[in-house]
Amino acid sequence: MSGNVVIAGAGISGLSAAYDLAKAGEPYALIEKQSRPGGVIQTTVRDGCVIEGGPDSFISQKPEALALIKELGLEQEVIGSNDATRVTYILRRGKLVRMPEGFRMIVPTRVWPTLRSPLLGLGTKAKMGFEWFRKPATYPDRSVAEFVIDHFGRETLDYLAEPLLAGVYGGDPSQMSVNSVLGPFVEMEKKHGSLAKAVMKSRPAAAGGGSLFRTLKGGLGVLTAKLEEKVDVRRGTVEAIERTAAGFRVRIDGSWMDAASLILACPAWAAAAIAASLDARLGELLAMIPYTSSATVAMCYDSAKFDGIRAGHGFLVPHVERKRLAACTFVNSKFDHRGPPNRILVRCFFGGAGDDAVLEELDDALVAMAQAELRTILGLKVEPLFASVARCPRSMAQYTVGHSARWSEIQERLTAIPGLFLAGNGYTGIGIPDCIRMGRAAAAAALKDAAIASSS
Ligand SMILES: Cc1cc2nc3c(=O)[nH]c(=O)nc-3n(C[C@H](O)[C@H](O)[C@H](O)COP(=O)(O)OP(=O)(O)OC[C@H]3O[C@@H](n4cnc5c(N)ncnc54)[C@H](O)[C@@H]3O)c2cc1C
Repeated sequence: MSGNVVIAGAGISGLSAAYDLAKAGEPYALIEKQSRPGGVIQTTVRDGCVIEGGPDSFISQKPEALALIKELGLEQEVIGSNDATRVTYILRRGKLVRMPEGFRMIVPTRVWPTLRSPLLGLGTKAKMGFEWFRKPATYPDRSVAEFVIDHFGRETLDYLAEPLLAGVYGGDPSQMSVNSVLGPFVEMEKKHGSLAKAVMKSRPAAAGGGSLFRTLKGGLGVLTAKLEEKVDVRRGTVEAIERTAAGFRVRIDGSWMDAASLILACPAWAAAAIAASLDARLGELLAMIPYTSSATVAMCYDSAKFDGIRAGHGFLVPHVERKRLAACTFVNSKFDHRGPPNRILVRCFFGGAGDDAVLEELDDALVAMAQAELRTILGLKVEPLFASVARCPRSMAQYTVGHSARWSEIQERLTAIPGLFLAGNGYTGIGIPDCIRMGRAAAAAALKDAAIASSS
């Protein structure tokens, strides 16, 4: 077989790529090594509760997820987070402290809530005030930790930036690249010096537009299931590739298949193993993108018997609090349509940078760990009606210092291998909209190559 496109990996990146190829009538083979497509998107329904094992939503500011959802006819299914009732807590010295209002990520935009908050000490509040007078400056890529400490001090790093970023990247701020992770803030630093001043100026534009987070009534699995209806997924592992005169030979479970193009929509570490035989340096660069692992424990309670603190949309646990639990979401406060009204569904996150070992724990041990943490933090003693554990091994890419330079070099090397494309969360964005964007861009590039080949 020749003239077709092989896609390695049927997570949201690979499914999005295959969907566009199928729509265009281009022959493709979408290869997935697990029995279940969808990658880290894993939705289950139990006793009427919608349980997300991996991601639970996507941000609405990036248009790609909503655009695909609309195209698939799922627009009526979209729901937003309950932002009007959003209260998030942060654990400080074992107690839940309400996150002050008016913060844009790490940047305070309202004076009184910041001044009154017990989350931050006087020294930090003074530093936040002085930040207003910073002059525009440009630095080489540095770590998120250095950047945050420079602007707002160590406490802001420990009690805001670290827990907030851990929720998105499962990463370590002393390793993460500020250019790749907090790019818009770096631009503000260049232009205005003070982030607080810059954010205040941009506030009206950021205010409108509905809920920040969106999902589907039946969970994100509805999106991947719909894509699965539109494409064919073959079970198998892409193991190796070789160049041929017409394109590539791809080894899948020991058998070779010809392909004009190849989209590696698997994690960068898996892409590294496949691409290294074509270009050792490319393999090396891909392997330099680290990934962290995580596990989630969802527990369902009878709301009449729930005897712990009901902590708004949930709480974050800063690393400095030295708990294994990283965060906890009150799922049916954050979103509607997540279960019957007489149920409380909570979801506990474990893992992230420095705690990959959590995946080695048995399910019962993880549930016991979650229960013990909630007993201490929320005073919750009642047993859950049921618990459900999900694991995402080596799934969260870490954009470490120098990432954008490495990505530029990866792109350069790819130009020397026409027909080879990358998609996934390891490169230009970790979220679902980013992955859809990359998957679809890879499909568009493969289609362009196919059109050129057929016209010549
Ligand atoms: C716990 C967790 C929570 C998250 N929360 C959010 C959130 O709320 N919002 C958000 O926007 N993003 C979130 N993210 C990030 C986002 O979900 C992911 O970045 C995105 O879904 C990754 O999609 P993907 O297709 O690139 O990769 P994956 O989903 O990892 O899929 C890659 C697929 O490739 C397959 N594969 C690997 N190697 C091979 C091979 N050699 N041959 C064939 N197949 C192979 C794998 O089995 C897998 O199915 C979260 C991620 C995690 C892990």
